[in-house]
Amino acid sequence: MNLNNKLAKAQQTFEEWRKIPFAKKQQLLFKLAELLEKDAEKFGKNITKEMNKPISQSIAEIKKCALMTRYYAEAENILKPEKIKTEFRVSEVHYAPLGVILGVMPWNFPFWQVLRFAVPAILAGNTVVLKHASICFGSGKLIEKLFLDAGFPKGIFQNLEIGHAEVKSVLENPIIQGVSLTGSEKAGAEVASIAGKNIKKSLLELGGSDAFIVLDDAQLKKAAESAAKARLQNCGQACNAAKRFIIQKNTEKEFMPIFIKEYQKFIPGNPMKKETNLSGMARPDLADELENQYKKAIKNGAEIILPLKRISETQFQPGLIKVKPGNPILKEELFGPLGMVMIAKNDDEALRIANDIPFGLGNAVWTKDKKRQQFFIENLQSGTVSINKETSSDPRLPFGGAKRSGYGTELSRIALKEFVTAKTVVGN
Ligand code: NDP
Repeated sequence: MNLNNKLAKAQQTFEEWRKIPFAKKQQLLFKLAELLEKDAEKFGKNITKEMNKPISQSIAEIKKCALMTRYYAEAENILKPEKIKTEFRVSEVHYAPLGVILGVMPWNFPFWQVLRFAVPAILAGNTVVLKHASICFGSGKLIEKLFLDAGFPKGIFQNLEIGHAEVKSVLENPIIQGVSLTGSEKAGAEVASIAGKNIKKSLLELGGSDAFIVLDDAQLKKAAESAAKARLQNCGQACNAAKRFIIQKNTEKEFMPIFIKEYQKFIPGNPMKKETNLSGMARPDLADELENQYKKAIKNGAEIILPLKRISETQFQPGLIKVKPGNPILKEELFGPLGMVMIAKNDDEALRIANDIPFGLGNAVWTKDKKRQQFFIENLQSGTVSINKETSSDPRLPFGGAKRSGYGTELSRIALKEFVTAKTVVGN
């Protein structure tokens, strides 16, 4: 089917799909979750083949997709008409789906990013067309088949297999009613400006350079384990990975050796082996970019704690650098196995450093003290604040960014209302 026919099919399916009761749509989601679990290994292998993620993490990604899908299969229907008390005989809010929504998705979690957007959008009554990252067309195809195998109607979810230059004309097509993009700031800004020009809703989930703050009353061993995982899982290629470790000065001496030891437990290996916890980056050009950023950081005064060593086209021995405020690298996202350590003398300084960047996705703070926790909860500028744990998305909780990390909400019940119109029905 050519592109125009696919869009027409999506529109035609929408006209039927929007009338299907919420509970009936949920039944199909149960089936989708079941299929994800059944074929987790097969889908996981595809992910690893496409973007080098260690196989155990690829399978975990699929299992998390199943969990999320089941969460929506069981979710309360918050889209049913709401009665509002007014002087009129009828006054209600109805939630009407928008229509065909475009997803522009990245390669770092080839199933999760797509399904995290598509499942609530579809449950709300929309249909979806996908422009996946060019190295993940295989995942796009498998997800399209998955929806069909689960019993969804043809046209509910279609994989477009287009290059990013074609996104503009798809988004300009009158059939498309909105777009959700996960990826870089550059791609986000370009896509959102096309959407804006065409008066279409956009949702952006972009980069981050999240802080992981360790204060002097933290459980250091647990914090160190969590910190290493938060930086190096998925080879450091996660928007909400911890990228800056802000350590309270009087705890640096004790914390750093434990942190380094945990960090060194991530050893590059063959991604298809179950025991591998770190493999290559998704593309050689992304590895080149990380190496350039490393050099730039050092040129601007960063100290090497652990050198970032390139050992193949895409693989590194993970690096750790100590960075002072003012280093221009702090304005960039390090999307790979390279962490930055910063030192703060007290809570105020830790907060100032944490907030002094253009992004705000998911900061974490480690302290046992409730008052100190509260101070950071109230003042950290990010979509998520994690306490005594690393930031990770949870289907039950909203996920989204502040500042240049994007706008809009994914996951939780709130995501069901992202691609709908709140329609007022009022009169006598
Ligand atoms: P991109 O943002 O370029 O890619 C993400 C998606 O957007 C892909 O589907 C891509 O398509 C598409 N895209 C890119 N440019 C445009 C455009 N102008 N118009 C429409 N669609 C576009 O990420 P990269 O792969 O280039 O990675 C670069 C950096 O982006 C990373 O180093 C990281 O900092 C950040 N990033 C953040 C992610 C996150 O989870 N927030 C995920 C991935 C990357 P195509 O593949 O065809 O180019």
